[in-house]
Amino acid sequence: MEFKKFSDVKVDKLDISAVQKKYAALLSKLSQAKDGQEAIKIVKEKFAFDDEINTAVQIPQVRHTIDINDKVNSDLNDFYDENIPLIAEAENPFSQALFKCPFRKELEGEFGKHLFELIEINLKTFSPAIVKDLQEENAIGSEYNKLMGQAKGIYKGEEIPITKFDPLMKSLNREERKEGSEGYWGFFAKNEDKLADIYDRLVKVRTRIAKKLGFDNFLQLGYYRLNRTDITISDVEKYCAQVYKTWVPFCQELYKKQEQRLGIKDMKYYDYSLMFKNGNAKPVGTPEDLVADATKMYKEMSPVASKYFNFMTEHGMMDLVAKAGKIPGGYMTYIPGLKSSFIFSNFNGSAGDVDVLTHEFGHSLQGFLASDIVAPSLRSPGYESCEIHSMSMEFFAYPWMQYFFKENEAKYRYGHLLEDIAFIPYGVSVDEFQVFAYTHPEATQEERKAAWRAIEKKYLPQRKYGEDNAFLEKGGYWMRQLHIYVDPLYYIDYTIAQVGAFEFFIKSNEDFKAAFSQYLSFCKLGGKYPYHELMVKGGLEDPMKPSTLPSIIPELKKYLDSIDDSKF
Ligand code: ZN
Repeated sequence: MEFKKFSDVKVDKLDISAVQKKYAALLSKLSQAKDGQEAIKIVKEKFAFDDEINTAVQIPQVRHTIDINDKVNSDLNDFYDENIPLIAEAENPFSQALFKCPFRKELEGEFGKHLFELIEINLKTFSPAIVKDLQEENAIGSEYNKLMGQAKGIYKGEEIPITKFDPLMKSLNREERKEGSEGYWGFFAKNEDKLADIYDRLVKVRTRIAKKLGFDNFLQLGYYRLNRTDITISDVEKYCAQVYKTWVPFCQELYKKQEQRLGIKDMKYYDYSLMFKNGNAKPVGTPEDLVADATKMYKEMSPVASKYFNFMTEHGMMDLVAKAGKIPGGYMTYIPGLKSSFIFSNFNGSAGDVDVLTHEFGHSLQGFLASDIVAPSLRSPGYESCEIHSMSMEFFAYPWMQYFFKENEAKYRYGHLLEDIAFIPYGVSVDEFQVFAYTHPEATQEERKAAWRAIEKKYLPQRKYGEDNAFLEKGGYWMRQLHIYVDPLYYIDYTIAQVGAFEFFIKSNEDFKAAFSQYLSFCKLGGKYPYHELMVKGGLEDPMKPSTLPSIIPELKKYLDSIDDSKF
């Protein structure tokens, strides 16, 4: 679709019964197809129709997030919330028929094998017998979101939303950090029973769903829900063991350095969030300046990236600045009908603003580069791979950081890399905790907390709470992690992708041009192959292979050592 500005694009409200009829007609055409060529043509027509629907649904949804007070888009948003399950129900028989289609050989020749692997595991995650349980799972998830949406902690005698505690917990003033942390965790301690009960019910309903579908417990089902066709539970177990053996000691060295930098001898749990004595690097300039800097950066970085970045800004495909009526947070979404992504954020003056222009743009660029892939489900891989697109772009942008951070650019790079490194053991802890939860669905609140504390001591041994925080000492930290509640088993994907991004980072320091062109090729592959094959085709060492982590550590150390952190 040709368009000038996102705000001018006109979309009609979908007629749900027409959508149902169209899917039924496509299904009957597929079942009557006489040969492979005809089947391929019908499947292509179906994919184009999927894109049409996706476009019609997403545009008003995006507009709704930009201005929740706009009545037209708010009504459309509600309308689709209600009707998307009906659309999915109408589409589902086609996927089932496609899976059983007698012309599989020809179809695999055209679209690849992976499309069918995805359909196969998707079919394993659903049966009409679990509809009620799925509704229950969603309802408990909403209960959790509601509780967290109103979450407030106490700071200096005043109630403030827990989302506002972050700057206090990173305050340069130690007393403020302590009080901020106590206020933040105070909410969780006060609501511990409620949060534990919500999680208990989620574990139990997910276990029930898994058993009804023929699984022993939720673990394998959770993997299938995340489209992991070839990542096994044992792959992840081995990867976690490798993190414990190699990455945990690496991080402990970095915490020692942090201690020296801050000049604090008795580091407390609330001190670790402060990386530098004078605070983190902040970008300089207005939001318009940052976009202008990014425009200049991409122009110097790569013709393809530059052309697409300009396309997005010129066509109003970014809404970056916080303003009244916008929902909080940020996201990017690919809109197939426009062959472009939309980036949404709420700039707040922190380094995170620059990460939006790199991270989210990395995702966007990938969406654009893979837009020629006909099957929508193959345009983008699983989270463990698609976050490589975005996290790598954060690193490819390093040589241009002086545009955004001026004289603090080295401090930004140092801090950014440290955070990424330190994240891995935490991400792995979150996964190991969930493995415990789903393999011990009958565990009590106290047993779950004890399990978390043991995992925390293993992967994050610097965390000593002692008498400073009884709630955390008993193992309550996991209760703050949203993903544990609403995105089961997803969290580990960030860590796997991070390792893939480190690989591109190391390559970019050796030969930027070659690394960037390899990155573009990797993006173009989209999600056409299962994970392990995608890593091979993309020329990356598989992050889950036991030799990968130990080979990365010395390179990252070398890079950190090349920056003098004593002045930060
Ligand atoms: Zn991302």
